[in-house]
Amino acid sequence: MLKKILTLLAIITVFCTGCAQKEQNVSSDLEKILERGNMIVGVKTDSYPFGYIDKNGKNAGYDIDIANLIGKEIFGQSGKVKFVPVTTSDRIMKLLSEDVDMLIATMSVNKTREQYLDFSSSYYIAGQAVLTRNISKIRSLKDLNGKKVVIIFGSTAESNLRAAVPNAKIIGYKTYNEAYNAIKTGKADAIVSDDSILLGYALKDKSVKLLPKRYTKEPYAVAFRKGHESDDLVRTVSGIINQAERTGKLKHIRHSHGLK
Ligand code: GLU
Repeated sequence: MLKKILTLLAIITVFCTGCAQKEQNVSSDLEKILERGNMIVGVKTDSYPFGYIDKNGKNAGYDIDIANLIGKEIFGQSGKVKFVPVTTSDRIMKLLSEDVDMLIATMSVNKTREQYLDFSSSYYIAGQAVLTRNISKIRSLKDLNGKKVVIIFGSTAESNLRAAVPNAKIIGYKTYNEAYNAIKTGKADAIVSDDSILLGYALKDKSVKLLPKRYTKEPYAVAFRKGHESDDLVRTVSGIINQAERTGKLKHIRHSHGLK
């Protein structure tokens, strides 16, 4: 009997040691980034002033500065961030298929997304608003009933608008520039999206205007794949963002992009 128990214990010990080694051998996302020697970040190229291409052909914007700040803290030096362009509609797919380590791409945190993604602390709060032609009679969200309204596929505005203005004729585009062209050419009457992105168009082009009311709160955060492999990366990135918020560094970067 004793022999049987000892044999069983020996088997369990060998088996569990194997389990522990296996656990340890699975690198966390942060370890993978450190081993690889760079951090791959999905960023926008059509969302001024968050993610866009500057006149020298380089990625620029508030999201890009956040990525560089995180990269510098993680590696202790600059120049370790690789940018991959994403759009509102393909960003989650690019994150889940491991094309990128994280998204810093005007991405709002909400309950639905939290079911399948992890998020850092928030680094900006936007709000949904309406962009329309200057001569338009549209004054508020309810005036959009029966009108042709543009949303960007994959954005929070898509679901919000369907619920708030059920009789709007919704037209979807993949990028902000396509959406903007649709209201410029009269194919649509308005765009509903984040004030911070739409304001860029209103500032550059006096023939369009951003209506003053904000209909939602959109807290932007860095998005990660869900699961314990990402835990230490999420914690590290949140720590960097919290620290930069405390020291006033984030505010300084926001102001440098004309954001409040
Ligand atoms: N922040 C909103 C979202 O995450 C809209 C901005 C965007 O198109 O990225 O859906």
